Amino acid sequence: MPFSLESLCSDPRACVRRGGAADPEGTCVLYWVERAQRALDNPALDLAIRIGNEIGKPVVAFLGLAPRGPYANLRHYQFLTEGLADLAAGLRQRNVGFLLRSWPEHSLLRACEELRPSLVVGDENPLREPERWREKAARALRVPFCTVDADAIVPSRLMEKQQYSARTIRPRIHARLGEFLVPSENPSARRRWKPPAKLTSRSIADDLLDGWKIPRSVGPASTFRGGTREGLRLLREFIARKLGDYADRRNHPEFDGTSRLSPYLHFGQLGPLTVALAVQRASAPTEQKEAFLEQLIVRRELAVNFVRFNPDYDSLDGAPAWARRTLAEHSRDPRETIYSEKQLENAETHDLLWNAAQKQMTITGWMHNYLRMYWAKKILEWTRSPEEAFQIAVRLNDTYELDGRDPNGYEGIAWAIAGKSDRPWFERPIFGTIRYMSAGGVSRKFDARGYIRQIEKMERSRGER
Ligand SMILES: Cc1cc2nc3c(=O)[nH]c(=O)nc-3n(C[C@H](O)[C@H](O)[C@H](O)COP(=O)(O)OP(=O)(O)OC[C@H]3O[C@@H](n4cnc5c(N)ncnc54)[C@H](O)[C@@H]3O)c2cc1C
Repeated sequence: MPFSLESLCSDPRACVRRGGAADPEGTCVLYWVERAQRALDNPALDLAIRIGNEIGKPVVAFLGLAPRGPYANLRHYQFLTEGLADLAAGLRQRNVGFLLRSWPEHSLLRACEELRPSLVVGDENPLREPERWREKAARALRVPFCTVDADAIVPSRLMEKQQYSARTIRPRIHARLGEFLVPSENPSARRRWKPPAKLTSRSIADDLLDGWKIPRSVGPASTFRGGTREGLRLLREFIARKLGDYADRRNHPEFDGTSRLSPYLHFGQLGPLTVALAVQRASAPTEQKEAFLEQLIVRRELAVNFVRFNPDYDSLDGAPAWARRTLAEHSRDPRETIYSEKQLENAETHDLLWNAAQKQMTITGWMHNYLRMYWAKKILEWTRSPEEAFQIAVRLNDTYELDGRDPNGYEGIAWAIAGKSDRPWFERPIFGTIRYMSAGGVSRKFDARGYIRQIEKMERSRGER
């Protein structure tokens, strides 16, 4: 009896994009790696292996690297390629082959023509462009194709529609958490893949970015190195040193009190399941663990939900009606200070705290969450219109943050500038009833001067090198 993808229809993680029976003549099951660039706790890879074992075929992971996606630059691709050695080693451990290709040889369809898989399994990414690639693949492939949500702990399709806020999504996530927050079996493929003699694959040692037309002015981030092993090291360090005070310190940018795992989660080098289970098992106080899991699961999956169900996630059009109305009413309010995009990018404002936050992002590739909120709200205050503010915030965030171009970023910017997941506050100029954050108020909540000094010191030591 040939394996049929329709038998997966009841799996809430899986989405059958092209049905039918697996081709019995096919040479393998192909796992198309896109968002989930890891061999550990990866439900898409697990499914490919389970199917391969069931139909007696080897499994091959295919990764086709290409310069694509708005604002992606050398910083992002460097981090991505640093992670490939761990991906290759993890796949080997699970007896899965690895076919690595780089632009202009990155086409999935071409790889399928050469390999003739019995079926294709992909992972998921709710952003517009990668979703289009999947739709295109579903139309063009001649074998069954399904994708698996390897990005959220509770599969995002179970939420069915856009959730208003953490308050509305939290009970829905918690109701299903027992089912999905469970250790993965990380199965291994039974049959080893033998690459056909003429098949060309790149090596992880190659300069995979050679000849790519990508912006190179934004260099590699100074404080992060890509890869699952490095992500796991940071996770262990977070649990040992920071988790015990997480709730008390997470809003203090002057301390290194958060996990800094967002780049690893963004590139899928770590999955949320690995992080959540490790934190759950840790010996830290329950309220500290719960505070962290609220961010990792509820807030993160609220962002995935926003991008999945709101096609305008990266512009003001995606904001709730009350927020668009109040911003429109105040769009002509006089602005005391207006900065150009370049001045903002170069951290040339009168506000030392804002400049420090901007530099933390441009130099290290990561900004503290508390300052990301302040940073985006000030862009609204200092630009000509909310539309312009939104667009500048997206461009700067996606260009400089290693974790940029992520649902969390669009949710965060929409929250700060456009009232997403929030409620109306007191009326004031420019912001209308969007929640405001003042420099004085923010600086009273943490040691802003200490934070500014740290960033200045980092900048000086960089200049001296
Ligand atoms: C304007 C703005 C822009 C942002 N841009 C991004 C972005 O581009 N990419 C990105 O990953 N995050 C973004 N965030 C969310 C948040 O700031 C970062 O996820 C967090 O600072 C990452 O640091 P960490 O890993 O040390 O977080 P931790 O505090 O250690 O949290 C662990 C994980 O939980 C998730 N998380 C934490 N805070 C949030 C949050 N507020 N919303 C959603 N998920 C959260 C992240 O995956 C994070 O890695 C943005 C927030 C705002 C307000």
